[in-house]
Amino acid sequence: MAHIERFAPSPTGYLHLGHAFSALTAWDQAQALGGTFLLRIEDNDHTRVRPEYEQAIYDDLHWLGLDWPKPVLRQSDNMEAYQTALTFLNALGLTYACECTRSDIKQAQSLPIYGPDGLIYPGTCRDKKLTGNNISIRLNMAKAVAHLGGSARVNKLSFIDRNTGKNEHFLNADQLLSGCGDIVLARGDIGTAYHLAVVVDDAAQNVTHITRGKDLFEATRIHRVLQALLGLPTPIYCHHRLIVDENGKRLAKRDDSRAIRKYREDGVTPREIREMVGLGDE
Ligand code: GLU
Repeated sequence: MAHIERFAPSPTGYLHLGHAFSALTAWDQAQALGGTFLLRIEDNDHTRVRPEYEQAIYDDLHWLGLDWPKPVLRQSDNMEAYQTALTFLNALGLTYACECTRSDIKQAQSLPIYGPDGLIYPGTCRDKKLTGNNISIRLNMAKAVAHLGGSARVNKLSFIDRNTGKNEHFLNADQLLSGCGDIVLARGDIGTAYHLAVVVDDAAQNVTHITRGKDLFEATRIHRVLQALLGLPTPIYCHHRLIVDENGKRLAKRDDSRAIRKYREDGVTPREIREMVGLGDE
């Protein structure tokens, strides 16, 4: 089977050491196994992306020694595909429109609970049948579980994580309902959202292996549900360790002192970047 890896950054800031680790790990895997390394630009959030960040992604990755087939898939050019998936889920009766803001959601519950999609939605708009522009579309998780055959069937859905001792991870319907809830499939201002777009793109690009940080492990449960609903294959995952700062905190995009371009300006070499993220001099 072809081995296809991808690195899928969002151009909302400069790539930092954590991105370098992810991209290099995926690249090394593809090289070692005679596979393909794809770059995908996840620029669907037009409220946050900037052209100079996208250009910096190309420059920094090339500087690190990486290359990929062109043209790259840019999510902003692929909105129709996300709309098609949304229409499909809608036709199954699994979605609903929601007009709540973040503060509405916070106020609706005494103790706001966070899941892999942010604040867990209390269901305020679930039965409202709202219409109009600029409203979000959510997945009705209870209906999704029922559509997939109920809890017992959902609990048999799994995904492989090569980076854990325990390789196969099963979904848990109860946890999906209480710990993920009705996730956003499409933001009103954008027309899609991360979970839907990433699942659609990984399938369309025939990605077989997804290498990304441990912080997205829980999100993979959501992706597994969407793959099952949309009839898409499940790639093999590798949720790798995170690159952290001296306080043990995961690096953030705004952490410009760890930006690859800053290291470049300071005369650090690509080989030194590899060493800094623990990939030695492969
Ligand atoms: N665009 C996402 C990010 O930059 C990609 C996550 C993923 O690899 O699925 O965090």
